[in-house]
Amino acid sequence: MFEWFGKVNFSPYTKVGDFAGFLKDGYLKGSRCRACGFKTFPPRADCPQCLSGEFDFVDYSGRGRLHTYTRIAAAPNGFEDVAPYTIGVVDLEEGGRCLAWFGSTIREEEIKIGMELQVVPRIFEEIEKIKVSYSLEKPGTKWGRRHADA
Ligand SMILES: [Zn+2]
Repeated sequence: MFEWFGKVNFSPYTKVGDFAGFLKDGYLKGSRCRACGFKTFPPRADCPQCLSGEFDFVDYSGRGRLHTYTRIAAAPNGFEDVAPYTIGVVDLEEGGRCLAWFGSTIREEEIKIGMELQVVPRIFEEIEKIKVSYSLEKPGTKWGRRHADA
């Protein structure tokens, strides 16, 4: 299931594999450690704070502020066809940081550290496979969800 995530997949199937399924249905889910309550996005099976392996999926609104960003001109393997591109790191309202591409609602010259952003789940098709990811968009950007709740 985790092969759905991202353009080039570096992640093997793990306990957090359902994350990709949630994204496919339009939901952003982080993890909350059952032992200490530490929250991360994307979810992590093992708590970076206390190393507990017990966690629950929790809803993330995807709202946050831009922490930093960079323009990639010399792209790593698998991304050469889309370079140059700009990626950002967002401090999320619910806790944690996420790294993502800027989406089509934001122009390069509008990008400013501290700006409000919305992380939006994305589905894209690539040679017989449906893949999921997420992008950084303007606050208030809407997206589709498959069910009323997941
Ligand atoms: Zn913990």
